[in-house]
Amino acid sequence: MKKKKIVVVDDDREIRELANYIVEDSLPGAVIRLAENGLEGWQMIMSDKPDIVITDVNMPLMNGIELLKNIKKTFPDLKVIVATALPEIYQKEIIHLGGMLLPKPFSYKSLRKILRRLR
Ligand SMILES: [Mg+2]
Repeated sequence: MKKKKIVVVDDDREIRELANYIVEDSLPGAVIRLAENGLEGWQMIMSDKPDIVITDVNMPLMNGIELLKNIKKTFPDLKVIVATALPEIYQKEIIHLGGMLLPKPFSYKSLRKILRRLR
């Protein structure tokens, strides 16, 4: 199994650490980097070219929807998991833009289930 590169983008440190823990456990050997906002995440994605991005929506500097749009324009095959508690209209936009929805707050089980599908 090829080692996956993952970028986690969330302005909440506890959520970044939770996602980091779940990814480490679900995809052994994965190379994980954490970003605190959408802009930092975007810069990381451009330099690292990861296989999977897990992103929040509400963040400073660049939100998760803008980040998703940028990613899909530049790296159409990159898998983007968007964690959000936003209402349905935004969820539809995320799916329309090619993102995978992860309802927030997410559990160990729900994130692990999506990650296992992407192995
Ligand atoms: Mg946030």
